[in-house]
Amino acid sequence: MPEGDTVWNTARVLQRALAGARLTGSDFRVPQLATTDLTGWTVRESASRGKHLLLRLTGIDAEPWTLHSHLRMDGAWRAYAPGERWSGRPAHLIRVVLHSPAAVAVGYHLHELALVPTAEEESLVGHLGPDLLGPDWDTDEAVRRLAADPDRTIGEALLDQRNLAGVGNLYKCEVLFLRGVSPWTPVGAVPDLPGTVALAQRLLAANRGRWTQSTTGVLHRGGTSYVYGRRAQPCRRCGTAVRKEELGERVTYWCPACQPDVELPRNAQDRPR
Ligand SMILES: [Zn+2]
Repeated sequence: MPEGDTVWNTARVLQRALAGARLTGSDFRVPQLATTDLTGWTVRESASRGKHLLLRLTGIDAEPWTLHSHLRMDGAWRAYAPGERWSGRPAHLIRVVLHSPAAVAVGYHLHELALVPTAEEESLVGHLGPDLLGPDWDTDEAVRRLAADPDRTIGEALLDQRNLAGVGNLYKCEVLFLRGVSPWTPVGAVPDLPGTVALAQRLLAANRGRWTQSTTGVLHRGGTSYVYGRRAQPCRRCGTAVRKEELGERVTYWCPACQPDVELPRNAQDRPR
């Protein structure tokens, strides 16, 4: 699942394949860019911001432009050598092809594909909170943004990219398991919010440079997560069946024993006499 680390890895693939290259051709297969031709443009750099990809180019008029894309749940970029078979995904999912003398970059099932002046990049990513894998990562600012809505569940708040950019459902579930926090806990009742945020950053950072996402340190299939994707399987710590339920717009996985509901202050009339 594309989360911040996957997008970071993808940006690096594009950086290695295209940075510094002058494009020899482009093929956009989305209506809004169907007539765009990047032949002769130079790729300056590839960057990620949260779950957004930013391919920065110099146009033939020497103006800086940014090709923006978002992977959401199913998008991907792949780089191939010229003449190599494009084996990544079915051809009908191709949204853009960028040709350079040394590599061909193919974007599959990309979302929000847009070409904007680099000076206007902020209109696409300016709303994002601190990027967990960005050079400007700022734990304090992420905590401040999360804490601004103390009644919201931590499960929903961690997924809100305006609070911090890069956490998807997998890391959300895993971080809360490792901290022993129920996903339904109000942000204001999370015992150590800075510690939770710092752990999320460490988990994403640990998966940079590889495509297998693991929060357990185990890389083989079936061993990579504590609770994510493990409904009804025994908790790796206590053996209780892992549960899966909807929380907001997403499903969440958790261990009801390791992540008990917080005891909220009760109203006076609810108190036992
Ligand atoms: Zn457990």
